[in-house]
Parts: sequence; C-alpha cells; structure tokens
Amino acid sequence: MEKELSAGSAIEARCTKCRAITNHIVIAMVGDTPAQVQCNTCQGRHNYRPIKAAASAKAEKAGKTTSRTPATRRLSLEQQQQQQWQDLNLAAKREQAKPYQLTTTFAVNAVISHPTFGIGIVTRKAGTNKIEVLFEQGCKLLRCG
Ligand SMILES: [Zn+2]
Repeated sequence: MEKELSAGSAIEARCTKCRAITNHIVIAMVGDTPAQVQCNTCQGRHNYRPIKAAASAKAEKAGKTTSRTPATRRLSLEQQQQQQWQDLNLAAKREQAKPYQLTTTFAVNAVISHPTFGIGIVTRKAGTNKIEVLFEQGCKLLRCG
C-alpha cells in the first residue's frame, strides 16, 4: 500500500518554517525512511518529520486544554478577594480586631479594624512601612509602623 520512496519523491511532511504540513521532495533516504526533505513552499531543507507523530501530540495537547477549561470559573480579582474575605469569616472576628493606626505595626494574619474599610486581615508585608490588608471590598495597601 505504501508508495516506494526514493530521493526525488514527493512527500507530505511537517515543515518547521511554514509551521504546517506541506509538500516536500525527498533529498536523502536512510533505509526505507526519508532522512532529509526539501519544502516546496519555502524551499527549506530539514530532517524529515513524520506527520502522524506531530498530529497526535497536537491532539493530546488540545484534549488536555478542553478538559480543563469548563472546570475553572473565571472570577475577577475583586470577586476572588471578596470570596476570600467571606471564607475567612472576618465579620465574626470583629472583637479581636485591632484598631488601625499609622503608628502601630501589624503582623501578617492580624485582624484589624479600619474606620473606612471595616474589618480586614493583614495578608503580607509590602515593604518596610506598608501592609497589604484584605478588606471586604478587596485588598488595600496601608501604611503602618
Ligand atoms: Zn516550508
């Protein structure tokens, strides 16, 4: 069923320059397999790459992507932060909250009470005199210490 190939035969192969399957001419053979081919589209010479291997690798990659997509619900950063704030149940920790003051140093995970933003939790230190605090409306950078 397979055509006998030899130098000069036309063959379809994957061309890296064209990034597509194009018609090629066999330049050199190794046994029954083409070793070097020349692309009819860009005239580039390269090693022969069988189409099958490239196509199945592509299909596998595509399959992985499609199976992953429906599971992830895309939330905006703000929605994610609001969700996080609710998950931490910070409203219930109101009594433990330290009132926010410019002069006070707050540790990571400290619950603080801010006159404008309400209850928040310190998520990280952001530089020497700044903390990132997660409030109900989202993350804010505050000065401290
Ligand atoms: Zn090409």
